[in-house]
Amino acid sequence: MTLDLSDVTLTYPDGDARLTALDRVSLTVPAGTTTAVIGPSGSGKSSLLAVAATLITPDRGRVVVAGTDTTGLGRARTAALRRRTIGIVFQQPHLIASLTAAEQLQVMAHLDGRSPRSARLRAERLLAAVGLTGQADRRPHQLSGGQRQRVNIARALMNDPAVLLVDEPTSALDHDRGAAVVDLLTDLTRDRGTATVLVTHDRGHLNRVDRVVEMHDGRLRVSTGPAPR
Ligand code: ADP
Ligand code: MG
Repeated sequence: MTLDLSDVTLTYPDGDARLTALDRVSLTVPAGTTTAVIGPSGSGKSSLLAVAATLITPDRGRVVVAGTDTTGLGRARTAALRRRTIGIVFQQPHLIASLTAAEQLQVMAHLDGRSPRSARLRAERLLAAVGLTGQADRRPHQLSGGQRQRVNIARALMNDPAVLLVDEPTSALDHDRGAAVVDLLTDLTRDRGTATVLVTHDRGHLNRVDRVVEMHDGRLRVSTGPAPR
C-alpha cells in the first residue's frame, strides 16, 4: 500500500465560517494501480490531491505515503519526502519556455543531487517511455499540446516516485489524445509500480483504470468496482 489516506477532513476559511472541502475521506491506493477520481467541479478533487501530495495539511486524519506517516513530520522532512516519493502532474504542464524537453526533466534531478550525465540519460529514457523519442531537444513551443503533457508526465517520474498524483491531465486535449495520455499513465503505473491517483471529469477515459471513486461535496464514495479491461 503506497498511498493511504484515512479519515481526512480539510476545511478552508469561508467568510466567518469554514468550508468543508474534504469530509472524513479515506482512500487506499495499492502500488501498481490507478484510482480515478471523478465528481463535479468544486467537489474537492484537487483538495484531495493537494492533501495526498502533502502540499496541504488536513485539519484531521492521517496521510501515509510510501509507509511514512506524514502527521507531525515537520516542514523540511515533509518536503524531502515529497521530492523523493511523490510525482505531481498538474492540469497545465507549466513547462519552462526556454528549456528543452530533456532540460525540463534534468532540473528535477538537479534538485535531488544526481549527476548531470546520469540525469541526461534518465531524461532521455523517460522521454522515450512517454513516446517522445527524438524530441529531447525541442522546446515547449516546438511541441504539440499532447506532447507537452507527456513531458509533464515524464518530469513527474524523474525521481522515480512511489506515488503519482495527476490532476485533469486531459482537459486541454481532444478525446483521442486524452485517451492516449490516460493509457500512457495506466501503463506507466503498472510498469513502475506507482500508486496513481488520476483526477478526471472525462468518463470516457475510465475503462483502463483499476478503480473509480466519486467525490461529492467533499465526501468520497466508490463509484464502480474494477473497471472492465
Ligand atoms: P475540484 O477540484 O473538485 O473542483 P476543489 O478541491 O478545487 O474542487 O475545491 C473544493 C471546494 O473548496 C470548493 O468549494 C472550492 O471553492 C473550495 N476551495 C478550494 N481551494 C480553496 C482555497 N485555497 N481557499 C478557499 N476555498 C477553496
Ligand atoms: Mg480541481
